[in-house]
Amino acid sequence: MKLPLELIPEMERRYGKYWWPEDSELNYQKISKNPFTNIVFTVLSQNTSSNNTRRAYLSLARSLSVDPFTLSRADPKRLSDALRPGGLQNVKARRLIELSKFVVKEFEGDLSKILGMPKEKLRERLKDLPGVGDKTADVLLTSLYGHREYLVVDTHMMRIAKRLGLVGENAPYHEIQRALKNCLPLELLPEEKQERLTGLFWLLAKYTCDAKRPKCLECILNKMCEKRI
Ligand code: SF4
Repeated sequence: MKLPLELIPEMERRYGKYWWPEDSELNYQKISKNPFTNIVFTVLSQNTSSNNTRRAYLSLARSLSVDPFTLSRADPKRLSDALRPGGLQNVKARRLIELSKFVVKEFEGDLSKILGMPKEKLRERLKDLPGVGDKTADVLLTSLYGHREYLVVDTHMMRIAKRLGLVGENAPYHEIQRALKNCLPLELLPEEKQERLTGLFWLLAKYTCDAKRPKCLECILNKMCEKRI
């Protein structure tokens, strides 16, 4: 199945309003350009909403400098208190300390050293980092190489891919990623619109293809969906 280009304006109309707000305090462009802060942001996003992630990151950045040297030496209690506004603070504080220690030890605190590696090698090297799996590695790679190459598969993308019938129930991460890349007509769009379409599709998965109550009757994909619910 290929998402028809003609559906994009309707997706824009329905989901554009949910697009992530410009946040003067949280400069996401700046965060995503720095590989370390980008990974920290992604670790904070694990198992929580984007609002909680933003709250946790802002609170962290107000309390401590977000760099591997500072975080590797941070007092766990202080770090955990800083992350409290986003929830799961103890486990995330532990994860960030472990991750920062690894970055200091293996990369002398400078992750940008590995960014020049060939892509596939870089991906595997990123996955050596504690707490970094396929999804987190792809978030970082997306900021370097764009969505067409490293489309991030999170729980919403996984769910919609299975319901649409793009993959089987037990498909592994890479198969789902491949199927979604084939489904979204990214190659027909200029680069700046590829991110927009990926985001709109994610918003459709989140708001219409809801985990508990999918709104199939009003869904713009309902004619092409296998509705494996
Ligand atoms: S038709 Fe239903 S199951 Fe299929 S994508 Fe839309 S909301 Fe999800």
